[in-house]
Amino acid sequence: MKFYFSLIAAILCVSCQSKKDVSIFITNISIVDVKNGEIISDQFVAIQGDSILEVGDQSLKVKYQSNFTINGDGKFLLPGLWDNHVHFGGAEYIDENEQLLPLYLAFGVTTVRDAAGDISLEVLKWRDEINQGKRIGPKILTSGPKLEGINSIWPGDLEIGTVTELEAALDSLEKLKVDFIKITDNTLKPELFLEAVKQATERGWSVSGHIPTALTIDQVSKAGQKTVEHLGYLMRMTTPFEEEISIARGNDTMNATDAAKLQSESRDDSVALTKFKQLAAQGTGVVPTLLISSNIAYLEEKYFQGDTILNYLGPKLKESYQWRIQRMANDTPEDKQNRKDSFEAIANLIPLVKESGMKIYAGTDAGYLNTYDYPGLAIHLELQLLVKYGLTPREALEASIINGPEYFGLEKDFGSVQKGKKANLLILNQNPLENIEATLDIQDVLKDGQLLDRIKLNQILAEIKAWVAKKENG
Ligand SMILES: [Zn+2]
Repeated sequence: MKFYFSLIAAILCVSCQSKKDVSIFITNISIVDVKNGEIISDQFVAIQGDSILEVGDQSLKVKYQSNFTINGDGKFLLPGLWDNHVHFGGAEYIDENEQLLPLYLAFGVTTVRDAAGDISLEVLKWRDEINQGKRIGPKILTSGPKLEGINSIWPGDLEIGTVTELEAALDSLEKLKVDFIKITDNTLKPELFLEAVKQATERGWSVSGHIPTALTIDQVSKAGQKTVEHLGYLMRMTTPFEEEISIARGNDTMNATDAAKLQSESRDDSVALTKFKQLAAQGTGVVPTLLISSNIAYLEEKYFQGDTILNYLGPKLKESYQWRIQRMANDTPEDKQNRKDSFEAIANLIPLVKESGMKIYAGTDAGYLNTYDYPGLAIHLELQLLVKYGLTPREALEASIINGPEYFGLEKDFGSVQKGKKANLLILNQNPLENIEATLDIQDVLKDGQLLDRIKLNQILAEIKAWVAKKENG
């Protein structure tokens, strides 16, 4: 009798024993371990507030309960996607940029790295509002205005012509609390470019940028540049004459056409591999942005006008696509072929980059001006291109989800589904390690612990579509 009593007491105790109430409890889900390329099945995840409280097997069932329980049976859980190169911009259509924030989330993109535009102050404001939970959108990490030379073609830049101006510009970027530094070379002098990379790195920022023709990539890497934006720049490293070409370009004794000719005629992949390994050892990685190059290369072949996502993008933003289209309108058949050949040559560097150990960051260049490079959808297509040209699905996901946080030193909070990490998560209906296209089969998105289930995601999409329709008719 006594035995039964204590047994009943024990059973009662288990069920009534203070189960901890958590914000969200995910049951029986398969976790995608992107780092190791493994699926860990039958996992339980307790989420409290904006973070993951605990991850484990079914023993967690007796520890936690929640009013929001997600049945994860047959589903796959991984961190939300990072698009590591986007642009917000277009000072005359800030409202259309604002609509991109929920759009990113609807596509499972929980962080974007904004690589400068002409509406930096708005972007910084959105960043802070999102961080404070006052606005829904992806986590924004922004460069603020980028550094350039005097009278650059890009509106919104911080223009510098001297070291004193550089220092003042960096002071002002510190005041704006920007997350990283972007530098481009339209009119910025090569020596000042190098100095900017050096000083920004010394101040503790990760630096990203284009590469001036008068410098070798190794010079820029040695100055501290963490990422080369756009894979095309690495083509310069495929020739043993990179240094000679950069010097000749710097003192104007060689034009761009002759440089490109010499470069392609002397291409040597073993030279490229050695130099890429050097960059890897110096901690310089690359953001390939294959999608925008592919869009431009295959502009005539692809019927972008039929893409349904166009219904979710504002009219002025879509209009901004035209500048590139018009620039190519009079291309001869030879020009068109060159565009494709050039893209294929660049994209085929991916296996060499991978072999060298250089870090690849998945980013798309999505946003205004960049033709048919659709915010939200773009990162999925970029991952597919990275796989097409030589990464495994695991490596492509790593380039987005793991390398993204690493760029900012945010590995502690992001990059995996583990205790203590931020609850910025994606629940898929298929295994993305088997098929990278599975990233588009989204069931739920969690942003800072806030659940956006399929119904809510569809509602967000419908609202954006209605907003755009109204804008187009009004
Ligand atoms: Zn860009």
